[in-house]
Amino acid sequence: MTGWGDPPAPARRGVDSRVLLKRLAQVMAEPGTGQERLDRIVSMIAASMETEVCSIYLRRDEKTLELCATQGLRADAVHVSRLRIGQGLVGRIAEEVQPINTADAPREKGFRYLKETGEEVYSSFLGVPIQRLGEVIGVLVVQTRDPRLFTEDEVHGLEVVAMVLAEMTELGAFVDSGALEMAALHRRPFHVRGVSGQEGVAMGTVVRHEPAIVAHAPVAEDPEAERARLHRAIEAMRREIDLMLEDDLVQGKGEHREVLETYRLFAHDKGWLRRMEANIDRGLSAILAVEKEQSETRARMERIQDPYLREKLHDLDDLANRLLRHLAGEDGTSRDLPPDAILVARNIGPAELLDYGRALKGVVLEEGSVGSHAAVVARALAIPLVIQAPRITREAQNGDRILVDGDTGQVHLRPEESVAQAFAEKLAMREQAQEAYAALRDLPAETRDGVRVSLMMNAGLLADLPSLPSCGAEGVGLYRTELQFLVRSRVPRRGDQARFYSRVLDAARGKKVVFRTLDIGSDKVLPNMKRQDEPNPAMGWRAIRLGLDRRGVMRMQVQALLRGAAGRPLSIMFPFIAQIDEFERARELVEREVAAERALGHAVPERLEIGAMLETPSLAFAPDRFFRMTDFISIGGNDLKQFFFAADRENERVRRRYDSLSVSYLTFIEQIVARCAEHGTPLSFCGEDAGRPVEALALAAIGLRALSMRPASIGPVKLLIRSVSLADARAVIAEARRRGADSVRHPLTAWLRETGAPL
Ligand code: PEP
Ligand code: MG
Repeated sequence: MTGWGDPPAPARRGVDSRVLLKRLAQVMAEPGTGQERLDRIVSMIAASMETEVCSIYLRRDEKTLELCATQGLRADAVHVSRLRIGQGLVGRIAEEVQPINTADAPREKGFRYLKETGEEVYSSFLGVPIQRLGEVIGVLVVQTRDPRLFTEDEVHGLEVVAMVLAEMTELGAFVDSGALEMAALHRRPFHVRGVSGQEGVAMGTVVRHEPAIVAHAPVAEDPEAERARLHRAIEAMRREIDLMLEDDLVQGKGEHREVLETYRLFAHDKGWLRRMEANIDRGLSAILAVEKEQSETRARMERIQDPYLREKLHDLDDLANRLLRHLAGEDGTSRDLPPDAILVARNIGPAELLDYGRALKGVVLEEGSVGSHAAVVARALAIPLVIQAPRITREAQNGDRILVDGDTGQVHLRPEESVAQAFAEKLAMREQAQEAYAALRDLPAETRDGVRVSLMMNAGLLADLPSLPSCGAEGVGLYRTELQFLVRSRVPRRGDQARFYSRVLDAARGKKVVFRTLDIGSDKVLPNMKRQDEPNPAMGWRAIRLGLDRRGVMRMQVQALLRGAAGRPLSIMFPFIAQIDEFERARELVEREVAAERALGHAVPERLEIGAMLETPSLAFAPDRFFRMTDFISIGGNDLKQFFFAADRENERVRRRYDSLSVSYLTFIEQIVARCAEHGTPLSFCGEDAGRPVEALALAAIGLRALSMRPASIGPVKLLIRSVSLADARAVIAEARRRGADSVRHPLTAWLRETGAPL
């Protein structure tokens, strides 16, 4: 044996990874338990690579690795020796997702030997992560007494074997009921807390949006054939991207173009292709060759902080997904969904989500934000949504059982029976509550002391309209027209829009619908519109500001609304009015269009109301003239609150910090109520707070008589309103104010509890 201090021997061995893989396939084909297979694999690798030691460490849980099989180390250490992720060389490999190759292991950073294994006599060490798409399942190690550096061929060879091992673990090849229980990856319960994107609970079956392809034949029998498959798939993918680009070109230069150009660039990248071909030459099937490259991209993504580079790597990851779909012969469109499908995705666009439509019971996203378009669509479809659920795309597999709690942002994957049962009870209670709400459907929202509050619903897609008769709303208090634009890849033409608005009015069957003109700009970017880089998009060039600067789009929409109404009564509302002249100019535009329609001999609405959304504090202090001029006002509490408290509604760090029931905010809204009352201006409230029962009650108590909310909130709000006296509620609020309370939430809820109101 050579001494510790001797220089490493020059690279001298080669290892043919194809031979290794062939032997591995043979071992796997033999009968036996999971443990026997692992034992055979380590002795086969040690023999093939001429090392004294070969060991497999598998992940026991989030933080621990366990020695599960070894050739050469002490047999009694198997299932006894454990390491934390990051601890020792093995732990470091799992943490950094990179191989370690050293001739002198004890001198390597982080070295720590496990006494019980007897490994102290081994000098050289090569370990590679066993990983699947960026997720480390374990670590594969070979060791020799002789201090030598392993050759590049040997490193690649071991990596390729680790890749196949990962795939086989995924297929359940090593699952035993005993000590190897933990190798049953993706079979253990997994619980994660994300952020609530849309309330509601659902129980169902996982459907993965991104391809979840498992290579059933990970080893390539015929590398030439695998290369040919890869090339065919690449060609098909390139054609697909070219077609998308052509399509985009026809529509004019859009914001997608840059993304597509990047895709194309990557799709033609020679290095990318060469690396995947090299993986095939080492014995992997085409699917695994792409996955190996994708795993490395994901590992790099984890290490990189720079948002620009991360975005690029993300594109590359997407591209690998596309390629995998082509290789698996899926076109990614039509597929059969189980009746209780819950979609799990890294992220999803609004149009894609709408394609799934009401076929989904719930959605869980690893990324996403409360204000994202996908969240808007999920809300419109009334599907429970959890966003920012860490690791969910790595854990969830098609067909897994999943519980989604959109109220608390919790997700249980493959739940234990007790959890599933508790959840089922929660669902049953909700259903009972739904029945109670349904019984109130045709009754008015009238307090015990005889005050009536008009409850309307918010909508934005045709898909929302069926809720109108079923939820008991008196009409649509806010119709967000931009949703229809955002879910399309092109701006709908005037004729399409007119047909669409006409269908909305048809579906409303004479009930009132308040159409809000486009609230776009800043983060809501229309197809074909160039994204503006604004430091503060919520306070930027959006809504009416953009509408008045780009009058063509606004005129087209107003014309479409007039034509869609075809003589029926019409209500139009302008978003984000901050000062009187904006309203005057917008109103004038509508009046001009009405005159033009009349001149053309077209029918004009028998009654036309033009109102403004009050979403900025400034409008509350507008001259009296404004209150007289507008036909109605609707308070957009979501925006108003963010500007009142200077707390971004999309920023998780601050958005819940300020209470909508704070005395300061309620006092401000009370002033708006008073100004409207003074001028006889009809007033409603259409932000999210209107749909929260206690908030709704407080708004009614300070004088609001019309509230517009999501359909699912009508029942709970009506139930509470019908069970209290408004005079009593007002007295509780007055008393809290007199005592100098910061918020009326606590006194109000305490009083409601005391009186046994249905909270
Ligand atoms: C609001 O701001 O309260 C509102 C209803 O509009 P949106 O949520 O669409 O901005
Ligand atoms: Mg708003």
